[in-house]
Amino acid sequence: MDCIFCKIASGEIPSQKVYEDESVVAFRDINPQAPVHVLVIPRVHIASIDEVSEENIEAATAVLRAIPRVAAVAGLTNGYRVITNCGEDGCQSVKHMHFHVLGGKKLAETMG
Ligand code: AMP
Ligand code: ZN
Repeated sequence: MDCIFCKIASGEIPSQKVYEDESVVAFRDINPQAPVHVLVIPRVHIASIDEVSEENIEAATAVLRAIPRVAAVAGLTNGYRVITNCGEDGCQSVKHMHFHVLGGKKLAETMG
């Protein structure tokens, strides 16, 4: 499968990794929207949160478990925002589920 985030997870494409374990990789967004902007992905390919199922729930859960660790490693001691875009209306551009972790300043109160 030709998926850029699968290639980042495998190391085929370089990234600025901030955290990884057997199930999850976290790396800095190439186009940061906040002082700290990290993407957290499962190593296995899940197209979006809409594709989470009994078959891949462990990989999806591993991402959630990793997020506080990612935040700590990235120095987000005063809070942060987690976003996952899904599908056309969600403006998802990379079709490998990822959670944006944003922080490093007081973020805007609006999201939509
Ligand atoms: P989304 O629009 O939610 O699908 O987010 C995709 C994100 O991936 C965007 O914020 C991009 O800046 C980011 N991105 C795309 N390619 C790379 C890459 N090679 N390394 C790091 N981040 C990337
Ligand atoms: Zn993928």
